[in-house]
Amino acid sequence: MATYTPEEIAQRFSELHPPFDPQAALVEANRCLYCFDAPCTAACPTHIDVPRFIKKIASVNLLGSAQTILDANILGASCARVCPVDVLCEGACVLHRYNKQPIEIGKLQRHAMDHFYSNGARPRFAVASNKSKKVACIGAGPASLACAAELRKQGYGATIFESRPLAGGLNTYGVAEYKLRPSDSLREVELVKSMGVDFQFGVTVGRDISLEDLEREYAAVFIAVGLAPPEPLNLSGENLDGVVDALRFIADYKTAQTIPVGQRVAVIGGGNTAIDAANAAKRLGAAEVYLIYRRGEREMPAFLFEYENSKLEGVQFRLQTQPLAIHPDGSGTRRVGALECLRVELGPQDASGRRRPEAVQGSNFLLACDMVILATGQSRFLDFLGRCRGLEMRDGNVVVDPETGRTTNPRYYAGGDCVNGGREVVDAVAEGKRAGQAIAKWLEAQHG
Ligand SMILES: Cc1cc2nc3c(=O)[nH]c(=O)nc-3n(C[C@H](O)[C@H](O)[C@H](O)COP(=O)(O)OP(=O)(O)OC[C@H]3O[C@@H](n4cnc5c(N)ncnc54)[C@H](O)[C@@H]3O)c2cc1C
Repeated sequence: MATYTPEEIAQRFSELHPPFDPQAALVEANRCLYCFDAPCTAACPTHIDVPRFIKKIASVNLLGSAQTILDANILGASCARVCPVDVLCEGACVLHRYNKQPIEIGKLQRHAMDHFYSNGARPRFAVASNKSKKVACIGAGPASLACAAELRKQGYGATIFESRPLAGGLNTYGVAEYKLRPSDSLREVELVKSMGVDFQFGVTVGRDISLEDLEREYAAVFIAVGLAPPEPLNLSGENLDGVVDALRFIADYKTAQTIPVGQRVAVIGGGNTAIDAANAAKRLGAAEVYLIYRRGEREMPAFLFEYENSKLEGVQFRLQTQPLAIHPDGSGTRRVGALECLRVELGPQDASGRRRPEAVQGSNFLLACDMVILATGQSRFLDFLGRCRGLEMRDGNVVVDPETGRTTNPRYYAGGDCVNGGREVVDAVAEGKRAGQAIAKWLEAQHG
């Protein structure tokens, strides 16, 4: 098992989409048609005024461009890097209709935001006079950052409580390093801090501070706890050394000093997290990385462009393959030696609308590996959410009013992955902003 220093990790994780140089940005901005109905803006969950910020790049007003982005999306820099633009703004670009390449909106947004952050990061927000009421936000991920920033813009106090030592949620600890480095995420946290948001780190609400205490001190509570670690797969051998959960693996290589990586790594799962973990293992030097997924290419929950990119990274896909057990290496230690798998064929559709995997009897085989990464989907913080009084839940997600993000307890609002079940950063930002605006309106109506 090799280990890597932060410097080596930085070297190995060169960016997936390198930035524009100023000339290329100018040329690309001038290709924009500035459509009057801006389908790109409609496709963005935070509704950034895309033609307006691109027009400002074309007239070399980069700070003005960044301000336009920040007015709609306080995490405009990370969204520029991590958004699945093919299925959002760029997917909606009218140039597709003319068989032309869509405008590279994500890279242009990054161009403006990088300029903003390398020039002092001073936004021009009209912050209203300070009001006495304060709001507690639980979790310091994208949803809470957006909610708290919105509340500050409207003059209300906001305190964010976070279990971990750093803010940013999955932007800091989860999104692949070649898209977003922790330092990129943390400079956005600094921006939110500079707006007067208070942060309490290492505080798990429900354990270190009770919900009743928050209710006593704060006028409203915004719940944005994201999703919980995955449930165990219940495979035999899951407790062997060398078996890790994908989120722990990604968080460790992004923020810890060193990270052990095997030479032959098997990743179990078919979503974007499995792909991120597999690519990371490859970039960290594993000779062979296999992604084991029990259904086929069409059924994979990962985005198609992530799947295609992962093949280019050198990950080998073992589709229609079901993991059965993890075996030790036979040396008398507790180290992983192989993953036992079974081939499957796809039968009729199941309740999820996907073809059901059916075992091919006698097709068992052993895949030699010294590390197994489990990436089979996150679970929910049901215990914690169950303790928030009066909260209606559906399929493990918090039920909210779609206009305001208000829960069935009138003092509680919610947003992000714990409401939408796990989508994208930009959805969490949009839902945090929506709740921040609605809470401010509600407090205004109540207290003036
Ligand atoms: C591996 C991975 C890769 C991803 N890649 C992308 C990508 O490329 N592009 C993209 O757009 N999206 C991506 N996503 C999705 C995106 O990261 C999430 O949708 C987004 O971060 C959700 O934001 P959130 O604020 O709801 O939750 P989170 O970002 O999960 O933040 C929740 C925070 O709450 C804290 N918390 C939880 N419980 C408590 C408590 N009781 N008290 C205090 N704090 C608490 C947690 O520590 C955490 O910091 C990825 C997700 C994963 C798992």
